[in-house]
Amino acid sequence: MNVLVVGGGAREHAICDAVNRSKDAKLFSVMKNLNPGIAKMSIDYLLEKETNVNSVIAYAKEKNIELALIGPEAPLEVGIVDALNENNIRAYAPTKDAARIETDKEWMRNLLKKHGVPGQLRWESFTDIREARKFIEKLDCEVAIKPIGLTGGKGVKVAGDHFSTVDEAIAYAKEVIENKIGGTAKVLIEEKAVGEEFTLQAFSNGNRIFTLPAVQDHKRLLPGDRGPNTGGMGSYSCSNGLLPFLSRKDYDKATRILQRVVSAMDTEGCTYVGPIYGQFMLTADGPKIIEINARFGDPENMNVLPLLKTDFIELCNSMLDSTSVIKKLDIENKSTVCKYVVPEGYGTKSMVGKKINVDENGILDSGARLFYASVNKTNDDIVTTSSRSLAVVGIADELSEAENICEKALNHVKGDHIFIRHDIGTKDLIEKRISHMNLLRGRQ
Ligand code: AMP
Repeated sequence: MNVLVVGGGAREHAICDAVNRSKDAKLFSVMKNLNPGIAKMSIDYLLEKETNVNSVIAYAKEKNIELALIGPEAPLEVGIVDALNENNIRAYAPTKDAARIETDKEWMRNLLKKHGVPGQLRWESFTDIREARKFIEKLDCEVAIKPIGLTGGKGVKVAGDHFSTVDEAIAYAKEVIENKIGGTAKVLIEEKAVGEEFTLQAFSNGNRIFTLPAVQDHKRLLPGDRGPNTGGMGSYSCSNGLLPFLSRKDYDKATRILQRVVSAMDTEGCTYVGPIYGQFMLTADGPKIIEINARFGDPENMNVLPLLKTDFIELCNSMLDSTSVIKKLDIENKSTVCKYVVPEGYGTKSMVGKKINVDENGILDSGARLFYASVNKTNDDIVTTSSRSLAVVGIADELSEAENICEKALNHVKGDHIFIRHDIGTKDLIEKRISHMNLLRGRQ
């Protein structure tokens, strides 16, 4: 079967790797930057912006693509799946309407409200800044200020992290409205959830979800969770599918919430077929919904896809047929630690075009996996772009061992202008997370 993967990041490199492990798949790809890992794996590839739907469709037709997989959210927002379907090409990804679960935060929150999905936060959206101020004052708690549409994970500002007073909150809300950040002159204000964040990814066949191990991402740029929000600096998962601060009961609650979202969408005639993930905050009161995303997480899918033993393409096809032959996912019981290598200055002003030396064999010999992200190749040199460069994933029985492997492998990545959050997956940071959760639950 000819399979097309759209997107050129590390998440898509991991998707391509899963495609290549599948029995009858031939891999083709479309990407904006030349991802050396994806290029090497693909029978053929097209260098093109992923949102350029007409070119993607023309390429898919030319290559007799039978199944398309879409990595990033931007092509979903412009209706790439609808266009593929109109051309009789199946895609295991949501239609433009269904992708609103991520691309329109107001629509998402209204859906949750209408269907009484558990785990909601108090929220409202505003076009009038005076009304926004009244709401914040009435809420009488810390808030998060969010643009309605996509901002690449960088448009959200949270009290305590990015601002401290009501006036500062209002100033940013005003900026969102006036500059139409996220595409509309509207801002969403919601209660701040306090706790530990985690990601639950799943395969949806439209009415049922099949969940993957929980993962914790690290959005903040600097060690100790300081600095600006990024696309994610790294993540970890544990061999039992849970997290050191997340019990089976909490995991099951999050699963039920995500299942309720998928069921609500089906009821609304907006059936969601594709990978989906819930970003949750585990609070003293259980998991609360921060976001629902219409794709796999990046970096979170690098923690789980390498562990998937079920044939990936067979799985995607069976999800699309809804006569799902697959009853349960077969996942290796391993712990994983993923750390991103980013250009120096990432998050503020990245140093672009700087050389990175990647010893691929050294990384593999350390027992780790390498997933390239946004790099360019000039005269055989791998150089940085403004986004994240590559991810290294350590896999082992124990989390500490996985972290060790990841660090050893990172010694095989060298550059004068790169930055890594070395604290991800370390014992100290994990213990901080556990005691934070214990403190919130009153169990010091
Ligand atoms: P998003 O772009 O919506 O994924 O948000 C980026 C980050 O902001 C999330 O990963 C959270 O860490 C934080 N965040 C968003 N909404 C809230 C909220 N209501 N309470 C606390 N933190 C939040």
